[in-house]
Amino acid sequence: MQAPDYPQTIVEFRERFATEQACEKYVAALRWPDGFVCPECGTKKAWEMQRGLYWCRWCGYQASVTAGTLFHDTHKPLRLWFEAMWYVTSQKSGVSALGLQRVLGLGSYHTAWNWLHKLRRAMLRPGRDRLSGRVEVDEIFIGGERSGKRGRGAAGKALVVIAAQEAEKGIGRIRMQRVADAAGESLEPAVWEMVEPGSVVRTDGWRGYNGLTELGYQHQVVSKQPELGDNLLPLVNRVASLLQRWLLGTHQGAVQHSLLEYYLDEESQLKTVKSDRTSQE
Ligand SMILES: [Zn+2]
Repeated sequence: MQAPDYPQTIVEFRERFATEQACEKYVAALRWPDGFVCPECGTKKAWEMQRGLYWCRWCGYQASVTAGTLFHDTHKPLRLWFEAMWYVTSQKSGVSALGLQRVLGLGSYHTAWNWLHKLRRAMLRPGRDRLSGRVEVDEIFIGGERSGKRGRGAAGKALVVIAAQEAEKGIGRIRMQRVADAAGESLEPAVWEMVEPGSVVRTDGWRGYNGLTELGYQHQVVSKQPELGDNLLPLVNRVASLLQRWLLGTHQGAVQHSLLEYYLDEESQLKTVKSDRTSQE
Protein backbone atom coordinates (compact mmCIF):
# COMPACT_ATOMS: atom_id res chain seq x y z
CA MET A 1 0.00 0.00 0.00
CA GLN A 2 1.35 3.37 -0.97
CA ALA A 3 0.46 5.82 1.75
CA PRO A 4 0.56 9.58 1.47
CA ASP A 5 3.55 11.54 2.75
CA TYR A 6 3.68 12.27 6.40
CA PRO A 7 5.15 15.63 7.46
CA GLN A 8 8.66 15.73 8.88
CA THR A 9 8.50 18.86 11.02
CA ILE A 10 5.91 20.38 13.28
CA VAL A 11 5.55 23.37 10.96
CA GLU A 12 4.84 21.07 8.02
CA PHE A 13 2.55 19.07 10.23
CA ARG A 14 0.48 22.05 11.35
CA GLU A 15 0.17 23.30 7.78
CA ARG A 16 -0.72 19.92 6.43
CA PHE A 17 -3.35 19.13 9.05
CA ALA A 18 -4.72 22.60 9.64
CA THR A 19 -8.34 21.57 9.15
CA GLU A 20 -10.60 18.66 9.98
CA GLN A 21 -11.02 18.12 6.27
CA ALA A 22 -7.30 17.72 5.73
CA CYS A 23 -7.17 15.08 8.47
CA GLU A 24 -10.18 13.27 7.01
CA LYS A 25 -8.53 13.27 3.58
CA TYR A 26 -5.40 11.77 5.04
CA VAL A 27 -7.28 8.98 6.80
CA ALA A 28 -9.28 8.37 3.62
CA ALA A 29 -6.09 8.09 1.57
CA LEU A 30 -4.71 5.51 3.98
CA ARG A 31 -7.93 3.51 4.08
CA TRP A 32 -8.68 3.68 0.40
CA PRO A 33 -5.36 4.17 -1.40
CA ASP A 34 -7.04 3.70 -4.78
CA GLY A 35 -10.03 5.84 -3.93
CA PHE A 36 -13.21 5.20 -2.00
CA VAL A 37 -14.72 1.72 -2.07
CA CYS A 38 -18.18 1.20 -0.60
CA PRO A 39 -17.92 -1.29 2.29
CA GLU A 40 -21.43 -2.53 1.49
CA CYS A 41 -21.46 -3.07 -2.26
CA GLY A 42 -17.90 -2.46 -3.41
CA THR A 43 -18.85 0.39 -5.71
CA LYS A 44 -16.24 3.07 -6.16
CA LYS A 45 -18.57 5.97 -6.83
CA ALA A 46 -19.69 8.07 -3.92
CA TRP A 47 -20.62 11.60 -3.03
CA GLU A 48 -18.37 13.20 -0.48
CA MET A 49 -20.45 14.71 2.28
CA GLN A 50 -19.62 16.85 5.28
CA ARG A 51 -17.65 15.50 8.25
CA GLY A 52 -15.84 12.72 6.43
CA LEU A 53 -18.97 10.95 5.22
CA TYR A 54 -19.16 9.19 1.88
CA TRP A 55 -22.53 8.42 0.33
CA CYS A 56 -22.47 5.46 -2.04
CA ARG A 57 -24.10 6.36 -5.34
CA TRP A 58 -25.13 2.78 -5.98
CA CYS A 59 -26.59 1.44 -2.71
CA GLY A 60 -26.92 4.63 -0.71
CA TYR A 61 -24.71 3.39 2.11
CA GLN A 62 -23.18 6.17 4.19
CA ALA A 63 -19.61 5.34 5.14
CA SER A 64 -17.70 7.40 7.64
CA VAL A 65 -14.01 7.69 6.97
CA THR A 66 -13.31 7.06 10.65
CA ALA A 67 -15.67 4.08 11.08
CA GLY A 68 -13.71 1.12 12.35
CA THR A 69 -10.56 3.15 12.92
CA LEU A 70 -8.93 4.33 16.09
CA PHE A 71 -10.85 7.57 15.72
CA HIS A 72 -14.24 5.94 15.56
CA ASP A 73 -16.83 7.36 17.96
CA THR A 74 -14.53 10.12 19.07
CA HIS A 75 -16.21 13.29 20.21
CA LYS A 76 -13.04 15.28 19.74
CA PRO A 77 -11.80 16.73 16.46
CA LEU A 78 -9.50 14.60 14.33
CA ARG A 79 -7.04 17.48 14.46
CA LEU A 80 -6.64 16.88 18.17
CA TRP A 81 -5.98 13.18 17.58
CA PHE A 82 -3.40 14.05 14.96
CA GLU A 83 -1.77 16.45 17.41
CA ALA A 84 -1.73 13.68 19.99
CA MET A 85 -0.04 11.29 17.56
CA TRP A 86 2.52 13.89 16.64
CA TYR A 87 3.25 14.57 20.27
CA VAL A 88 3.45 10.94 21.26
CA THR A 89 5.81 10.10 18.42
CA SER A 90 8.07 13.14 18.71
CA GLN A 91 8.88 13.41 22.40
CA LYS A 92 12.51 12.61 23.05
CA SER A 93 12.05 11.74 26.67
CA GLY A 94 8.92 9.65 26.50
CA VAL A 95 5.35 10.68 27.03
CA SER A 96 3.13 10.85 30.08
CA ALA A 97 -0.62 11.21 30.17
CA LEU A 98 -0.16 14.42 32.12
CA GLY A 99 2.14 15.80 29.42
CA LEU A 100 -0.36 14.90 26.74
CA GLN A 101 -3.17 16.51 28.71
CA ARG A 102 -1.21 19.77 29.06
CA VAL A 103 -0.13 19.93 25.45
CA LEU A 104 -3.58 19.26 24.02
CA GLY A 105 -5.38 21.28 26.64
CA LEU A 106 -7.62 18.34 27.47
CA GLY A 107 -9.97 18.98 30.38
CA SER A 108 -9.61 15.52 31.80
CA TYR A 109 -6.53 13.56 32.79
CA HIS A 110 -8.56 10.42 32.26
CA THR A 111 -9.15 11.28 28.60
CA ALA A 112 -5.44 11.91 28.10
CA TRP A 113 -4.61 8.61 29.76
CA ASN A 114 -7.13 6.82 27.56
CA TRP A 115 -5.74 8.36 24.39
CA LEU A 116 -2.21 7.49 25.28
CA HIS A 117 -3.24 3.97 26.11
CA LYS A 118 -5.18 3.62 22.89
CA LEU A 119 -2.31 4.89 20.75
CA ARG A 120 0.17 2.58 22.45
CA ARG A 121 -2.08 -0.44 22.40
CA ALA A 122 -2.86 0.13 18.74
CA MET A 123 0.73 -0.31 17.67
CA LEU A 124 1.14 -3.50 19.65
CA ARG A 125 -1.80 -5.32 18.11
CA PRO A 126 -0.93 -8.30 15.99
CA GLY A 127 -1.97 -8.41 12.38
CA ARG A 128 -4.89 -10.43 11.17
CA ASP A 129 -3.04 -12.30 8.45
CA ARG A 130 -0.48 -14.59 9.96
CA LEU A 131 3.12 -14.57 8.88
CA SER A 132 4.49 -17.53 6.97
CA GLY A 133 7.66 -18.85 5.39
CA ARG A 134 10.68 -18.27 7.62
CA VAL A 135 9.91 -16.25 10.72
CA GLU A 136 12.07 -15.12 13.61
CA VAL A 137 10.37 -14.85 16.99
CA ASP A 138 11.68 -13.29 20.17
CA GLU A 139 10.29 -11.37 23.09
CA ILE A 140 11.47 -8.09 24.58
CA PHE A 141 10.66 -5.93 27.52
CA ILE A 142 9.30 -2.56 26.55
CA GLY A 143 10.12 0.37 28.74
CA GLY A 144 13.69 -0.49 29.60
CA GLU A 145 16.74 -2.56 28.82
CA ARG A 146 16.23 -6.22 28.17
CA SER A 147 16.79 -8.00 31.40
CA GLY A 148 17.53 -11.57 32.35
CA LYS A 149 14.38 -11.93 34.43
CA ARG A 150 12.83 -14.02 31.78
CA GLY A 151 9.74 -15.99 32.67
CA ARG A 152 9.05 -13.87 35.71
CA GLY A 153 8.37 -10.50 34.17
CA ALA A 154 9.82 -7.19 35.27
CA ALA A 155 8.03 -4.54 37.28
CA GLY A 156 6.58 -1.72 35.22
CA LYS A 157 7.61 -3.22 31.90
CA ALA A 158 5.55 -4.77 29.18
CA LEU A 159 6.67 -7.97 27.53
CA VAL A 160 6.12 -7.96 23.78
CA VAL A 161 6.58 -10.88 21.42
CA ILE A 162 7.90 -9.87 18.04
CA ALA A 163 7.63 -11.99 14.92
CA ALA A 164 9.52 -10.91 11.83
CA GLN A 165 9.17 -12.64 8.50
CA GLU A 166 12.27 -13.11 6.40
CA ALA A 167 12.10 -11.37 3.06
CA GLU A 168 14.47 -11.57 0.12
CA LYS A 169 16.19 -8.49 1.47
CA GLY A 170 15.88 -8.21 5.22
CA ILE A 171 12.60 -7.90 7.05
CA GLY A 172 9.26 -8.72 5.50
CA ARG A 173 6.04 -8.35 7.44
CA ILE A 174 6.13 -8.01 11.19
CA ARG A 175 3.72 -8.75 14.01
CA MET A 176 3.85 -7.75 17.63
CA GLN A 177 1.83 -8.89 20.56
CA ARG A 178 1.91 -8.11 24.22
CA VAL A 179 2.03 -11.12 26.53
CA ALA A 180 1.68 -11.55 30.27
CA ASP A 181 4.98 -13.35 30.70
CA ALA A 182 7.52 -15.53 28.89
CA ALA A 183 6.00 -18.86 29.88
CA GLY A 184 5.02 -21.31 27.17
CA GLU A 185 1.35 -20.79 28.02
CA SER A 186 1.75 -17.14 27.02
CA LEU A 187 4.24 -17.44 24.15
CA GLU A 188 2.65 -20.34 22.28
CA PRO A 189 -0.78 -18.73 21.78
CA ALA A 190 0.96 -15.52 20.74
CA VAL A 191 3.02 -17.33 18.11
CA TRP A 192 -0.11 -19.15 17.00
CA GLU A 193 -1.94 -15.87 16.42
CA MET A 194 0.95 -14.31 14.55
CA VAL A 195 2.45 -17.16 12.51
CA GLU A 196 0.89 -19.71 10.18
CA PRO A 197 1.49 -23.32 11.30
CA GLY A 198 3.90 -25.14 9.02
CA SER A 199 6.17 -22.11 8.90
CA VAL A 200 9.80 -22.25 9.91
CA VAL A 201 10.04 -20.48 13.25
CA ARG A 202 13.47 -19.52 14.52
CA THR A 203 13.83 -18.75 18.21
CA ASP A 204 16.56 -18.90 20.77
CA GLY A 205 16.69 -21.81 23.16
CA TRP A 206 14.28 -20.41 25.73
CA ARG A 207 12.06 -23.18 27.10
CA GLY A 208 8.91 -21.10 26.56
CA TYR A 209 9.19 -22.03 22.87
CA ASN A 210 9.57 -25.76 23.46
CA GLY A 211 6.01 -26.56 22.40
CA LEU A 212 6.20 -25.02 18.94
CA THR A 213 6.96 -28.28 17.13
CA GLU A 214 3.91 -29.84 18.69
CA LEU A 215 1.84 -26.93 17.40
CA GLY A 216 2.90 -27.78 13.86
CA TYR A 217 5.80 -25.40 13.32
CA GLN A 218 9.21 -26.28 11.94
CA HIS A 219 10.97 -25.01 15.00
CA GLN A 220 14.64 -24.06 14.64
CA VAL A 221 16.58 -23.16 17.75
CA VAL A 222 19.43 -20.79 16.96
CA SER A 223 21.07 -21.08 20.35
CA LYS A 224 20.89 -23.56 23.15
CA GLN A 225 21.65 -20.83 25.66
CA PRO A 226 18.64 -18.95 26.97
CA GLU A 227 20.71 -15.83 27.66
CA LEU A 228 19.79 -12.63 25.93
CA GLY A 229 21.93 -10.23 23.98
CA ASP A 230 23.47 -12.30 21.20
CA ASN A 231 22.42 -11.17 17.77
CA LEU A 232 21.34 -14.58 16.57
CA LEU A 233 17.95 -13.29 15.51
CA PRO A 234 18.90 -10.18 13.54
CA LEU A 235 15.45 -9.47 12.12
CA VAL A 236 13.54 -9.37 15.38
CA ASN A 237 16.38 -7.52 17.03
CA ARG A 238 16.15 -4.81 14.42
CA VAL A 239 12.39 -4.54 14.89
CA ALA A 240 12.90 -4.45 18.65
CA SER A 241 15.35 -1.57 18.50
CA LEU A 242 13.03 0.31 16.16
CA LEU A 243 10.21 -0.18 18.60
CA GLN A 244 12.35 0.91 21.54
CA ARG A 245 13.43 4.00 19.66
CA TRP A 246 9.87 4.83 18.78
CA LEU A 247 8.83 4.55 22.38
CA LEU A 248 11.75 6.70 23.42
CA GLY A 249 10.63 9.27 20.88
CA THR A 250 13.95 9.39 19.07
CA HIS A 251 12.82 7.90 15.77
CA GLN A 252 12.52 9.69 12.45
CA GLY A 253 9.46 10.69 10.45
CA ALA A 254 9.49 7.52 8.38
CA VAL A 255 8.74 5.49 11.46
CA GLN A 256 5.91 7.73 12.59
CA HIS A 257 4.39 7.32 9.22
CA SER A 258 4.37 3.56 9.31
CA LEU A 259 2.95 3.65 12.81
CA LEU A 260 -0.05 5.61 11.69
CA GLU A 261 -0.72 2.74 9.33
CA TYR A 262 -0.55 0.37 12.27
CA TYR A 263 -3.24 2.35 14.04
CA LEU A 264 -5.52 2.12 11.07
CA ASP A 265 -4.70 -1.51 10.41
CA GLU A 266 -5.50 -2.59 13.89
CA GLU A 267 -8.89 -0.97 13.93
CA SER A 268 -9.86 -2.31 10.54
CA GLN A 269 -9.06 -5.76 11.87
CA LEU A 270 -11.42 -5.22 14.75
CA LYS A 271 -14.02 -4.21 12.26
CA THR A 272 -13.43 -7.32 10.20
CA VAL A 273 -13.77 -9.51 13.26
CA LYS A 274 -17.03 -7.83 14.14
CA SER A 275 -18.48 -8.19 10.66
CA ASP A 276 -17.37 -11.83 10.50
CA ARG A 277 -19.32 -12.47 13.67
CA THR A 278 -22.35 -10.67 12.33
CA SER A 279 -22.38 -12.74 9.17
CA GLN A 280 -22.31 -15.94 11.20
CA GLU A 281 -25.34 -15.00 13.23
ZN1 LIG B 1 -22.58 0.91 -1.89
